[in-house]
Formats: sequence, structure tokens, C-alpha cells
Amino acid sequence: MARIVVLGAGFAGLWAAIGAARKRDEVGAAGRDIEIRIVDRNPYHNIRVRNYELDLSEVALPLGQLLDPIGVTHGIGEVEAIDPARHEISLVTSDGEETLGYDRLVLALGSEVMRPDIPGLADHAFDVDTYIAALRLEDHLVSLGRSVPSPGRSTVVVVGAGFTGIEVAAEMPDRLARAGITGSRRIILVDPNPTVGATIGAHARPVIETALSSLDIETRLGARVASVEAAGVHLSSGEFIAAQTVIWCAGLRASRLATSFPGARDRLGRLVVDPFMRVADLRGVFAAGDVASSVVDGLHPTVMSCQFARPMGRFAGHNVVADLLRLPMLPLRIDWYVTVLDLGSWGALYTEGWDREVRATGAAAKATKQTINRKRIYPPLNGSKEELFAAAAPTVQAPPPTYGVDRTR
Ligand SMILES: Cc1cc2nc3c(=O)[nH]c(=O)nc-3n(C[C@H](O)[C@H](O)[C@H](O)COP(=O)(O)OP(=O)(O)OC[C@H]3O[C@@H](n4cnc5c(N)ncnc54)[C@H](O)[C@@H]3O)c2cc1C
Repeated sequence: MARIVVLGAGFAGLWAAIGAARKRDEVGAAGRDIEIRIVDRNPYHNIRVRNYELDLSEVALPLGQLLDPIGVTHGIGEVEAIDPARHEISLVTSDGEETLGYDRLVLALGSEVMRPDIPGLADHAFDVDTYIAALRLEDHLVSLGRSVPSPGRSTVVVVGAGFTGIEVAAEMPDRLARAGITGSRRIILVDPNPTVGATIGAHARPVIETALSSLDIETRLGARVASVEAAGVHLSSGEFIAAQTVIWCAGLRASRLATSFPGARDRLGRLVVDPFMRVADLRGVFAAGDVASSVVDGLHPTVMSCQFARPMGRFAGHNVVADLLRLPMLPLRIDWYVTVLDLGSWGALYTEGWDREVRATGAAAKATKQTINRKRIYPPLNGSKEELFAAAAPTVQAPPPTYGVDRTR
């Protein structure tokens, strides 16, 4: 029996495991011929892109519900190290240290928000990078709602005015209201760049600025966080903002375990993979999602996003089985790129193309965002093997549905 190990059960890993099971089924092999095992530190698939939302009730999907019907085994464990020469993974599980061997590997350990060594940051700042972190922030807001008013109680500082920080800030008026924190609330977005959404582009910026202003979100631009304490945050400008809630949303890096492999890495620490999701010069090792970078249209490398992680996972899953059985592999090519930025109760922003041309805004774009976040990126939840396999086929979806898009421009 051969063993395929998929590390990480996020958007890339989950779809790699289902895609591999689909291919195994297609060639008439069974679990006794090819074992497919996925390992994650958590027993669930986190719909990570929703961790900023008001309602977190449907963002952690139990892995057993998704993988038991298709014969993929799943283990809970912290991946500590990978030895590509020995084809071995070192894990820490509830039973202690374990070594897991593999014949083929799909690395899909994703990315994480980096917390620089700023005084007080580790102890006092929240984030929404993981489901656990999102729940921690939610619990904090609920308990603040029950506490006595103080200067910092109703002030939230969000650090990082990129995609995640903007979505977190824009959702905050509703989240504070639900926690019972009303009245003179303040939400302040801090970023070292001179503009909001510096990484999002000039076309999108006026829309973002309009939305933030209509939601009464303040900005502190060209400013860095100097230190954080329980009562607030000191900025490099010398300003102290009294705030009991500081949310860190700046700086994603690929999993440190990408350094286990000798292949080339980019400035985000991602392993460079070929169009088949193979790590260069390493037999039998594939990588997908935020931990990998692949040129998808002959020109542009993938962006860390669920938009790319899911197809990268599907193709990696197909190809890892094909590689094992010496069958032809399929290259991934994606000819479209869109972004859909949630702007809270103001609506959303929908852009198309690598220059991020604005195509829809407000309620129309919000309808697209909700379709993506609540339907499009979910695996079938009814346990149907046929539906799971159909969703994991190595094909590229059409762009998401757009509402209110002006195609005459
Ligand atoms: C708040 C927020 C909003 C976002 N919004 C969007 C959006 O609108 N559109 C978009 O396209 N993208 C968005 N993203 C980015 C998107 O979530 C990521 O690009 C995507 O999750 C990448 O998928 P992945 O499978 O590579 O990694 P992940 O989804 O991070 O999955 C990695 C998995 O590996 C596991 N893992 C990591 N390290 C270990 C270890 N050492 N041992 C065991 N398990 C481990 C983790 O538990 C996780 O399950 C958003 C991200 C955040 C945080």
C-alpha cells in the first residue's frame, strides 16, 4: 500500500485530499491500495475568510463529516518538522510524539499573520487569523459589553489597512452594537502607508475611502504601532489611543515549514511550484495554497487567497495520485482574477483583473460577497460522495456571479 499525506486541512489541503480521493476512485483503486491521510492541528476545516464576520457559527466544519464518506483518514496533530530525505513527518499528537512516513506529500500548511516583536503586542492584541483567535476576539467583545464604561471600552484599533484589516474594521460597528457597546464608539484603522488599501490599488481606493467615511471609521496613516498595553496603543507619531481592543491584521507569511524543503521561495516564504503543483527538484512533493506560489496565467504568481488555494488544492490532489500511478498530470491555468472586499453595512467592492478595476460596489457587490462566503467556497455538507467528488474535479470554476456589474464600460 502507498500512502499520500496531506498536511493542512484548509482550503488547499481539504480540496487536495478530496481531489486525491476522487482520482483514486476514478482509477478503480481503493483505500487498501492507496491510503490518503490528512493531518491538521484542528479537527475542523476553517472557512478562514469568514473569521472577521459577526456570526461565526458556520465557519468550523468537522473533518469527519467531509472525509469519512470518501475514505480519507484524518489525524489531529501539530506538524513539527518534515524530513524530505527520509520522507518523514514529525508530529505531536495527544498521544505524544509520532513519526509519519509518506510516499507522496501535499504540503498545504497555509500562512499566518506575523506578529513582530513590538512591546505588548503578544499579550494584548487580538487577530482573526484562525477560528480560535476569532472566537477569542468575540468573547472579549461580549465581556466588554458587560463591563462598566471606560475611555477605551468603546474604541477599537485595527492595525493594517489591507484586505483583512479593512474587512475587520468595516464589520466592527455591527459587532460592537451586538455586544451592546453603543454611543460614542470609535474604530481606528492604523497603517504605515500613506493611504488605505495601499496594496489593493488606486482604482479601489476612492470606494474604500467612501465606505470607511460613511461608517465613521477613522484612520491613522503613515503611523506604526510602537507598543500595546491593556489600556491602549502608542503610535510612532507619539499619539496614545485609549483602546481595550487592538486587532493585529498586518503581514502574512507562509508556514515556517516551507523551509523544510530546498526549493526556491519568494519574499512571503512561499515555495515556488510548477503548474502541476510540484515542488521543483523534489520527487513526490507537491504544495498548494498560501504556502506555495505558482504562475497561473503565464505571467502572474498566485496571490495568497482562497480564490487560488482551492483550485491549487484540487489540482495537487489529482496530480499526486497521477504521479504515484505514473499517469498524466494536469497543469493549472487560471485566466481570471477578481477581488471582493467586504465593507460591512456599507456593502462591498468587486474588482476584476490584476489592475483591480472596480466593477460593482455597495449592495450589489455585497450580494456577490455573501454568495462567495456562504455558498461558493463551502464543500457539500450532505455526506454525498458523488457531490464531494464532483466539487473536487480538477477544473477551474468560472468567476463568481456578479450583480450590478456595468459591462458597457
Ligand atoms: C479574516 C480573513 C479574511 C480573508 N478574506 C479573503 C477573501 O475575501 N478572499 C480570499 O480569496 N482570501 C481571503 N483570505 C485569505 C484566505 O483565507 C487564505 O488565502 C486561505 O485560507 C489559504 O488557504 P490554505 O489552505 O493555503 O491555508 P489555510 O486556510 O490557512 O489552512 C492551513 C491549515 O493548516 C493547518 N496548520 C498550519 N500549520 C500547522 C501545523 N504546524 N500543524 C498542523 N496543522 C497546521 C491550519 O490549522 C489550517 O487548517 C482571508 C483571510 C483571513 C484571515
